[in-house]
Amino acid sequence: MVYLDNNATTRLAPEVLEAMLPYLTERWGNPSSAYLFGHDLTQALEAAREQVAALLNAEPREIIFTSCGTESINSALHSALVTQPAKRHVVTTAVEHSATLKFCAFLQKQGYEVTHLAVSPTGALDLTLLEKSIRPDTALVSVMSANNETGVLFPVAAIAEICRNKGVMCHTDAVQMAGKLKLDVKELGVDWLSISGHKFHAPKGVAALYVKRGVKFQPFVMGGGQERGRRGGTENVASIIGLGRAAELALAGCSQQSRVGALRDKLESGVIHSVPGTQVNGGLEPRLPNTSNIAFDGVEAEGILLLLDQAGICASSGSACTTGSLDPSHVLLAMGFSAARARSSIRFSFGIYNNDADVDHTLQQLPGIIEKLRAHAPLARVNM
Ligand code: PLP
Repeated sequence: MVYLDNNATTRLAPEVLEAMLPYLTERWGNPSSAYLFGHDLTQALEAAREQVAALLNAEPREIIFTSCGTESINSALHSALVTQPAKRHVVTTAVEHSATLKFCAFLQKQGYEVTHLAVSPTGALDLTLLEKSIRPDTALVSVMSANNETGVLFPVAAIAEICRNKGVMCHTDAVQMAGKLKLDVKELGVDWLSISGHKFHAPKGVAALYVKRGVKFQPFVMGGGQERGRRGGTENVASIIGLGRAAELALAGCSQQSRVGALRDKLESGVIHSVPGTQVNGGLEPRLPNTSNIAFDGVEAEGILLLLDQAGICASSGSACTTGSLDPSHVLLAMGFSAARARSSIRFSFGIYNNDADVDHTLQQLPGIIEKLRAHAPLARVNM
């Protein structure tokens, strides 16, 4: 299998599994227990907190463990609003992940106002527009660090500075950034930052939220007094240990990203040169080194994905596939592309376990797949 869908999820690193195993076997206690067999685990949890804090250049007490990136994001938005009850406006962008967009839609139903900032055809944000959209009743600006579909980066440090000058809080969804590019909360100057373990070789179901020291916090998940009363629920000990180890590996392995970037570039230029009628979505902006989103004129993404799958290659489209029809990606539509271009776009996302052979195999297969689908284009469309 050639796995080119690392923005969807990543393989568990063997080192992470190794770190987790004792906590799935002999050390299975509950950290909240009074006796040593459970309580002893708090030290391991605190060590993992230190590892995650180091990845973000944060202080350990600024890290809250959660169950997923979605929970981290929901928690940040929820907390920012309930701790500032007089402020009923949120600024975000039209290209955020559904973890933000769906929570904002829920907020709108509760009577909050949400501004969804547009992006340019290259995927960039207009910071003047962002600044103008901040109002006296704005509680929070929430922008992603890197787009999961195109890899386009937003200038989070500049956005956080605008927020600071206006006295407004700033959250960034850094789920796609962690483990790929440097993340330094002090340089970024954000109040909140969300990451998710399964995007950087930790298991699924564990994540973290950075909350800057001094920022008021109202828990989203309420229950026991875990996480110093900031997130109820018995800790997912083994996965948190895995998250810590993955953070440590990510910090040490950021240099691998130039190799990953070279693989992405080789695939992208190979495709552009060997397949006519192709365009890179978001290719003109600063991007994640691992992501390539390519439109193939006149071909439906669903057909491409199917034939890639048959050739042992996993890639994805940004679209949700429901009842046999592809919803065009909201990210590509927000960039001003037609529904047809959005429906013909494929995301390839690389990771540290990819190699040259993966790129070569994909470059061998892809031109023939596109040619075949174009030859049968009317049929392929009927089948959508
Ligand atoms: N934000 C971005 C940009 C993502 O890509 C994802 C996952 O795809 C999420 C948030 C949600 O993370 P999780 O799957 O851990 O809930």
